[in-house]
Amino acid sequence: ERIIASEADLHDISFEQSLRPQTLKQYIGQDKVKSNLEVFIKAAKLRQETLDHVLLYGPPGLGKTTLATIIANEMGVNIRTTAGPAIERPGDLAAILTALEPGDVLFIDEIHRLPRTIEEVLYPAMEDFCLDIVIGKGPSARSVRLDLPPFTLVGATTRAGSLSAPLRDRFGVLSRLEYYKEEQLKEIVIRTADLFDTVIDRQAATEIAKRSRGTPRIANRLLRRVRDFAQVQGNGTIDFDITEESLELLQVDRLGLDHIDHKLLKGIIEKFRGGPVGLETIAATIGEESTTIEDVYEPYLLQIGFLQRTPRGRIVTDLVYRHFQMEVPSD
Ligand code: ATP
Repeated sequence: ERIIASEADLHDISFEQSLRPQTLKQYIGQDKVKSNLEVFIKAAKLRQETLDHVLLYGPPGLGKTTLATIIANEMGVNIRTTAGPAIERPGDLAAILTALEPGDVLFIDEIHRLPRTIEEVLYPAMEDFCLDIVIGKGPSARSVRLDLPPFTLVGATTRAGSLSAPLRDRFGVLSRLEYYKEEQLKEIVIRTADLFDTVIDRQAATEIAKRSRGTPRIANRLLRRVRDFAQVQGNGTIDFDITEESLELLQVDRLGLDHIDHKLLKGIIEKFRGGPVGLETIAATIGEESTTIEDVYEPYLLQIGFLQRTPRGRIVTDLVYRHFQMEVPSD
């Protein structure tokens, strides 16, 4: 388990629940997404209509679930939560849809993992708020149309590209969440420390923010661990020294890279003179699945400009040599 993993682990779940901001005002950062949603929510409320269906996309841990909850709160309706892989048969979806109250938000996480047969049930539900159900089998089978209460579907996905075009087109609002800036993560860390009744100084909060890979989930997780060190080895207050010491012990470096990132980057430098090298070759060299490298390890390294994808393979950039205090090769 990586402490800097952006997916939620078992320990995160109840902890995250207690930290979720409840209103758009409390939600830090993502200003463009927030201000658009604010307008759409206000307009829908003025017209006493349900909000258009919303698709939230972006890497894990950036606050999609949180935003879905906030949308329901701001609209003053209930939220029902499910996930793509949990809906196996059309009947599962029909049961969820028919149990909705007028105006409810239905949140489907990992919506790109919905089977195609289920997606087809969703189209008329999203468009006309109705369900077409087939009763009976063979020649006597007939289709019955069931009316549904109007609702807002909020879909979340880490892979907007894997969503089928007909499904994507049925969302009125498409919002892309971006990695957070250091200043915003610092604010999130200070807010969380406050909720924990823990004193943290600004320099310490900045240091945690810097190592959080642009991701609130990681920022909160690092804060939780640093708080443990501060409580056991210090006086409970989180200052810069205890933060630096604990993050060192947790092996999270100044940019939020851990031993796996180091292994990957140094592997390319030492075995392939910095690249280009194909994904499969990297995978075989460091003993990881190529899909794991692509989905889990690479995105942040690409984001901070440490790796580049070229048609001939992956290349490490000069930034990596500097980060490891190695000499940048002349070629
Ligand atoms: P996943 O797709 O992996 O489920 P997610 O994008 O849905 O992740 P959330 O579960 O919403 O992420 O957020 C993770 C944690 O980060 C939560 O504890 C939440 O409180 C916190 N968080 C996320 N975004 C913000 C924000 N803008 N302001 C304050 N806290 C935030």
